[in-house]
Amino acid sequence: MDFKYYLPTRIVFGLDCIIKEKELLQELGGSALVVTGQSSARLSGALDDICKALDSLKISYDVFAGVNPNPTFDNIRTGATRARETRPDMIIGVGGGSPLDAAKAIALLATNQVDVEDLFKGGLSRPALPVVAIPTTAGSGSEVTPYSILTYDALQTKKSISYPSIMPRVAFLDARYTMTLPRAVTADTACDAFSHALEGYLSSRANPVSDTLAREAMQVLGKRLGQLAAGMEPDLEAREDLLYAALLAGMVIAQTATSVIHALGYPLTYFKGIPHGRANAYLIEEFLHFNREHLRNWPKLDDILDFMQVNSIAELGDMLRNLTGQPPKVTEEELARYAHLASQAKNVTNCPMVPSEVELLVMLRNALLA
Ligand code: NAP
Ligand code: ZN
Repeated sequence: MDFKYYLPTRIVFGLDCIIKEKELLQELGGSALVVTGQSSARLSGALDDICKALDSLKISYDVFAGVNPNPTFDNIRTGATRARETRPDMIIGVGGGSPLDAAKAIALLATNQVDVEDLFKGGLSRPALPVVAIPTTAGSGSEVTPYSILTYDALQTKKSISYPSIMPRVAFLDARYTMTLPRAVTADTACDAFSHALEGYLSSRANPVSDTLAREAMQVLGKRLGQLAAGMEPDLEAREDLLYAALLAGMVIAQTATSVIHALGYPLTYFKGIPHGRANAYLIEEFLHFNREHLRNWPKLDDILDFMQVNSIAELGDMLRNLTGQPPKVTEEELARYAHLASQAKNVTNCPMVPSEVELLVMLRNALLA
């Protein structure tokens, strides 16, 4: 065995964990910028809890709200200007993957006098401000990854940056915050977590620790995605399971990164506005067929079906379609463009069998036109 595993995030999981463990914030300084999306940070109760904790610790703070789903360069520039003006000691992201990713990019720009576009070139002279992550969705796993994924208009897709210093120092996970999630966002984000576990498990960068985490994530998701697909409304216990699985899956991709499913999903989000997790869900079945075709006797593929409590890749596809509904209408020309964009994404190369642009096109066609 020969592997590395790096996870500098202090994970605190449980009901009321912010209030119970608030002293952890004190280690990071005396002032904060809290970064949120539009309204869910407040609606979920997470913003209230973190503000109470900061008040009681006498940590001063400012709130930067309004980060869009799939954060834009403008979101990041506005947040960075605020951080440069108020000079906080830490950045606290509250929300789904979008505000958490925005918090990370803002934390880098607070210490480095460069533009958001420069973050993609690497070579920054200073580490980011410490980041605290408080997820209100159970999906992205951004609370434990070194990535921030931004909408890159000049390239007409989404693209990630990766820096060790944006791995959150502390992640507070309280499933109560996910109780307000509408059914569609619950399903989309759970599919994102499944996609992380699956892509990580089938990655050429997988290691024994990431595999252990991926197996556990998929076993939990197998039960809970099945219940969601059958129409069950998740209670707090189910929500805790989903948040736990999303966390584990985030720990997987923090080591392995994502692969083909994410590379193909980004153009669907960029051009068609499909939510991130749902875009992934449309592509999972075809990605598994592709692997089955090229790596015939790979036991890991059978493992996935066992974990997900299904008998075939097609049955898994039916379950995912129950969760996401039908894919959007697309033309051949659009698919060719998406396949080309995906073929240029770095994460495509994280597969034991790297698909060509033509094979990517076939996957898209089968997933979206069949
Ligand atoms: P999201 O884009 O953060 O949020 C989606 C929607 O859900 C927003 O409208 C948001 O509203 C709402 N929402 C969030 N929490 C809610 C709650 N508790 N109750 C009701 N509504 C709520 O969703 P996400 O799927 O978590 O994140 C997706 C983003 O994460 C994508 O940009 C993706 O690329 C990225 N991602 C990052 C990583 C990583 O490692 N960094 C990994 C995977 C995905 P508000 O606007 O009001 O908050
Ligand atoms: Zn994802």
